[in-house]
Amino acid sequence: MRVILLGPPGSGKGTQGDLLEKKYGFPKVSTGDLLRREVQEGTPLGKKAEVKMNRGELVSDDLAVAMIKKRIFASDCKEGYIIDGFPRNIAQAQKLEKIDKKDLEIVFDIRLRDQTVIERLSARRICSSCGAIYNLLLQSPKEDEACDMCGSKLIQRRDDTSEVIKERLIIYHEQTEPLVDYYKKKGVYYRIEGEEKIEIIFHNIYSILDRELTKSMEARLVR
Ligand code: AMP
Repeated sequence: MRVILLGPPGSGKGTQGDLLEKKYGFPKVSTGDLLRREVQEGTPLGKKAEVKMNRGELVSDDLAVAMIKKRIFASDCKEGYIIDGFPRNIAQAQKLEKIDKKDLEIVFDIRLRDQTVIERLSARRICSSCGAIYNLLLQSPKEDEACDMCGSKLIQRRDDTSEVIKERLIIYHEQTEPLVDYYKKKGVYYRIEGEEKIEIIFHNIYSILDRELTKSMEARLVR
């Protein structure tokens, strides 16, 4: 099973991915997190990606595909996985289908107005150590500036500044949004209202996912 979380930056893909991972046990795979780790560790790949990431641009398809390929072929992804941040364009979507065909693929597109994206990203903080996500407006930490899980310092992502947010939105509309039609044509697309509360969004997603998982299990029994 493959779940793909689509949507603009700040729509809550990471948060919903974490909740889905907890509920279903399939790992969340985030290309953004994987790339940020490479940057933090100062690897050659991280150095290559950092400049583009700081500008809010996409890293090359080859780099993004290489990252995802390595991760989804790990043993914990055998039964299924939840992707946040990939694909970002049609070429990546086609590549993903080639490298890993899945019987069941479901795409949740978490929709958000641009103005909400700007407000949310400006208030987003992440843990400098474990990567946990907070939002000073929606999901604030118990203590200012410290992670509830591990106590490490919360930081603002370098690409969550207003200039870079604008650039990321342009790229989202130009390159990532065409995936809506792409997945609609495949018949695997579900639109989710992202302006709702986190729990409501989660409920809307897992109700569909439960239904689709049951259908797929029944179809397998009949075969
Ligand atoms: P995210 O955490 O998903 O917002 O990703 C942060 C940054 O990582 C993006 O702005 C891109 O620079 C890079 N990135 C993440 N995923 C991809 C991808 N699938 N293709 C290209 N660049 C990516």
